[in-house]
Amino acid sequence: MVKIIDGKALAAAVRAEVATDVAAIKADGGRICFAAVLVGDDPASQIYVRNKQKACEKAGIEFTLHTLAGNCQQRQIVALLKKLSQDKTVNGILLQLPLPATVVGRDEMAAINAIDPQKDVDGLTNVNLGKLANRTADLVPCTAQGVVHAITSVCPDLTGRNVVMIGRSRIVGRPTALLLENLNATVTVCHRSTRDLTEHTKRADIIVVAAGHPNLLTAKMVSRGAIVIDVGINRLPDGHLVGDVDFANVAKKAAAITPVPGGIGPLTIAFLLRNVVTAYRGQHSLQNH
Ligand code: NAD
Repeated sequence: MVKIIDGKALAAAVRAEVATDVAAIKADGGRICFAAVLVGDDPASQIYVRNKQKACEKAGIEFTLHTLAGNCQQRQIVALLKKLSQDKTVNGILLQLPLPATVVGRDEMAAINAIDPQKDVDGLTNVNLGKLANRTADLVPCTAQGVVHAITSVCPDLTGRNVVMIGRSRIVGRPTALLLENLNATVTVCHRSTRDLTEHTKRADIIVVAAGHPNLLTAKMVSRGAIVIDVGINRLPDGHLVGDVDFANVAKKAAAITPVPGGIGPLTIAFLLRNVVTAYRGQHSLQNH
């Protein structure tokens, strides 16, 4: 019988821990504040930011929203991120991605790197991704943490496990692969240029898919008993939200699988909150656990 990994329940437990940590910070007279920067008026980005705001407020974290027009200049984004980085009342900064194509002089990586690495709660600056590669990271990208949390909820020891990571983006695939490798898994990273995806996925104990293609992973590509983590979020023409995995058929072969929605999405937000607390502690030289 397949185990459906309940991302909502796992996320609720992480969020409860964060709320306790935030309450302790406040009891010590501290203030913890998260700043989101939203450029343009993309409806999906607006929803993502609103969800982050609600989650912060529930956890007792102050939230401030900073908006810029979609046709603003790159240097305005950089100036805002630098200003927030210098603001001692701000503990965590997130630039909602992707930046609209209409930004004048758009350079997403340069914008991300304008964030003080100690406040980079997405873990995407060169400094924090470099630290992840060197196994010294505090602020690790939230989705990667969510994926590892989901996997370890059903398979606590990853030592020697064969993991296939489909996707190598800066925000999901690459940091997830690094984190899994740091936990002693044997990780194969597949991408658009991979010749025979099935040859790799068939050999995997654990498959993580983050490609943005509905039904990319089908039952014939999966060995019986594999753990399957679906990071994809795709909106079908009929409005339905689906992942990258043919859930109904893969679930018949897998030992455990995450649903979409209700899998990695809620965990990503929970670990964003966890990162805000980690950032606060780093700035106040408190010990992180
Ligand atoms: P991206 O477009 O930046 O990267 C996609 C990656 O998948 C690339 O490395 C590409 O080479 C690979 N890929 C694409 N098609 C492939 C194929 N046919 N075979 C093998 N590899 C293929 O996307 P991203 O930002 O990494 O996001 C991936 C998916 O995850 C999207 O659906 C996105 O919406 C979703 N996402 C979900 C969360 C969450 O919280 N659940 C967070 C971030 C992204």
